[in-house]
Amino acid sequence: MNAPSEPLQGDCATPRRVTRPVVVGGVTVGSSAPIVVQSMTNTDTADHIATAIQVAQLARAGSELVRITVNNDDAARAVPRIVEQLAKMNINVPLIGDFHYNGHKLLADHPACAELLAKLRINPGNVGQGAKRDTQFAQIIEIACRHDKPVRIGVNWGSLDQSILARIMDENARRAEPRDAGCVMREAMVSSALESATKAEEYGLPEDRIVLSCKVSSVQDLIAIYRDLARRCDYPLHLGLTEAGMGSKGIVASSAALAVLLQEGIGDTIRVSLTPEPNGPRTQEVVVAQEILQTMGLRAFAPMVTACPGCGRTTSTLFQELAQRIQNHVREQMPVWRERHDGVENLTLAVMGCVVNGPGESKQANIGISLPGTGESPAAPVFVDGQKTVTLRGDNIAAEFEAIVDDYVANRYRRKN
Ligand code: SF4
Repeated sequence: MNAPSEPLQGDCATPRRVTRPVVVGGVTVGSSAPIVVQSMTNTDTADHIATAIQVAQLARAGSELVRITVNNDDAARAVPRIVEQLAKMNINVPLIGDFHYNGHKLLADHPACAELLAKLRINPGNVGQGAKRDTQFAQIIEIACRHDKPVRIGVNWGSLDQSILARIMDENARRAEPRDAGCVMREAMVSSALESATKAEEYGLPEDRIVLSCKVSSVQDLIAIYRDLARRCDYPLHLGLTEAGMGSKGIVASSAALAVLLQEGIGDTIRVSLTPEPNGPRTQEVVVAQEILQTMGLRAFAPMVTACPGCGRTTSTLFQELAQRIQNHVREQMPVWRERHDGVENLTLAVMGCVVNGPGESKQANIGISLPGTGESPAAPVFVDGQKTVTLRGDNIAAEFEAIVDDYVANRYRRKN
């Protein structure tokens, strides 16, 4: 089981919305459980080795649930092999299957796939067309019930159920004062999620096996939709801005949207849908999701490094290099520290460029260093728990500071048995 640590409380955040807890392969989503970080692979699922390797990378980066595409027979057949391969790698992370169009058939034809997945994600817009839609939706729900699996009903505006959209448009046209197109689209998305959830319950899926999402790529639409969804149901909500994009645009858009909702107590699990740079790590989406939660004070995953931006007071790149080195060091050490030391994720570090804000900021952190700015004497005072303990000099400042951090972790955070 991949149990999240105890949540911190963002002091100013609205208390979490009350939801039913849904257990996904041992990880609780909703209620008072910590907000769960999840991610999705981009490998060909039929390539079970490549997929298992990427699942392992995502899990080691901190993804508590990992979703994989199950789009054809080869992918469904690969699921048991992926699970087997992960066991050999000592990775125990719940897998979620993402189904579109043929989920009813794949799940019926490959019972081992249905049994080994911890949750099924279905998109009501892609379950089937016309008369087949309800039958195929019912088949998936029946299989979920038989295998006792939770289901995420994941609406996406790129594949919105057109019959619901048409109905809501008709209703809107009959109103004395019709609402604008954006409003109609948002209502159609929320209705699609809620009506599908009601139908799933009618087909026998217990209410504590349902998670909802309604993803769009516009920040303002996402906020409006989730506020409405949160008001109208008590299912746990999976938050994410779909197709957020690449690089800083994707990170900023996701952070802006998710932060507003999380601050309002809305959201029980999050995924950041970043497009990786060519050959870039898939794990970036996990790091960004963790950093959104940690910078908001909602959870702690890894020591935070505060660093100043630098300015004309410091012409050297020493503090940039040190900040990066320390950031990388804590990320690399975390898998080991997490296993050995309780509470290490709450450690705070500061790497500052000069005397203006350096000592003050350093004293606020557990460990801080104030590097010499232009014209300052070439000395770097180190502060531990607010007290100046040593002044570093010379060419070996980075390694010596790293050693101070390692010693602090070893002595301050209780060793696990
Ligand atoms: S701490 Fe010093 S170097 Fe860093 S931004 Fe402030 S004034 Fe500039």
